[in-house]
Amino acid sequence: MEKILLSPPHMSGAEQTYIDKAFATNWIAPLGPNVDQFEQDLAAYNNVEAVAATNTGTAAIHLALKLLNVQPGDTIFCSTFTFIASVNPALYEKAMPVFIDAEKDTWGMSPEALQRALEEAAQKGKLPKAIIIVHIYGQSVKMDEIMALANQYNIPVIEDAAESLGSTYKGKKLGTFGEFGIYSFNGNKIITTSGGGALVSNKKTPIHRARFLSTQAREQREYYHHVEAGYNYRLSNILAGIGIAQLQVLEERIAKKRAIFDCYKKGFQAIPNITMMPELADTKSNRWLTTVLIQDADPTEIMNKLSNKGIEARLLWKPLHCQPVFEDCQFYRHIEGAGSVAEALFAQGLCLPSGTQMTEEQQNYVITIMREILAEVSCT
Ligand SMILES: *Cc1c(COP(=O)(O)O)cnc(C)c1O
Repeated sequence: MEKILLSPPHMSGAEQTYIDKAFATNWIAPLGPNVDQFEQDLAAYNNVEAVAATNTGTAAIHLALKLLNVQPGDTIFCSTFTFIASVNPALYEKAMPVFIDAEKDTWGMSPEALQRALEEAAQKGKLPKAIIIVHIYGQSVKMDEIMALANQYNIPVIEDAAESLGSTYKGKKLGTFGEFGIYSFNGNKIITTSGGGALVSNKKTPIHRARFLSTQAREQREYYHHVEAGYNYRLSNILAGIGIAQLQVLEERIAKKRAIFDCYKKGFQAIPNITMMPELADTKSNRWLTTVLIQDADPTEIMNKLSNKGIEARLLWKPLHCQPVFEDCQFYRHIEGAGSVAEALFAQGLCLPSGTQMTEEQQNYVITIMREILAEVSCT
């Protein structure tokens, strides 16, 4: 039997047309007509002014920090419950991350913790240069509360929507609220270009500058002329072709991801020690991965048992404030003096196979095995 994977790529078939076009016209380069079209399509889908397609989501975050003029020694506030790519670019710029806990309703940045962190930073006269919020596993953070705090202190927000393309908050697409939004088209994301990303903004000027910085900061001259350091961060014209076709099936993919979640939810209804990831009122998650919390059992043990049955599951993100690389960084808990919400999520959570090509049979198999394993582990 084939292994049931977490979230493998799912091509629609139309990708080949755009790849063939790139070959036929010999646009085998970064940039080209597919990149232009992909940027336009992505801007239209998200209803934003401008998009710069990049070779990774991480590069898009790095560009956002450059555009906000982040300097060595600056502090950057960031959600702790996320993949390290959210904040690695801060390290490239020798900025200091400060981590903000998650909250139970969204698993995203806690507005309470953010407020305390901002108050303390203001008292010390060292406000952060940017706040990186992360919409995790497709779920929006409480945008009204977070944006109100950011606006009160006049701090730009970068929305890491790498996992949340197509999700909405009060009907508006995630990634479009802050100064900058970023998406990822890595192989495991809801749609993919094998590797790729995008930086979006409601202002055209910074996106023009992002394109400039991501093509080695080459000035418009007859010869190669450079005034500042740049990067090689643009998306390939071939990969953008994959992106154009993938974007056309994004709504289908979201519908399927949500159906997968609902099927698990139904399948686990009778199991009291499983809790599904919540969905906040007025939000729509793309349900990139179905994630659950499991009481009174060790998720690592369950993951290993699932693996023995040909099922790929994964633990939730280990909070960044617990990572050795960030041991010197400050951390603000959801509630002062209480346990960290992000650590509790990590200790209890599991991501289940959520590939959009999963069959009903495969999903029922996962549910059955989960039931068996849980009966087993709660007996011992
Ligand atoms: C995947 C991911 C990224 C990074 O995207 P890449 O395209 O792999 O560089 C950033 N943040 C989060 C939360 C992600 O899941």
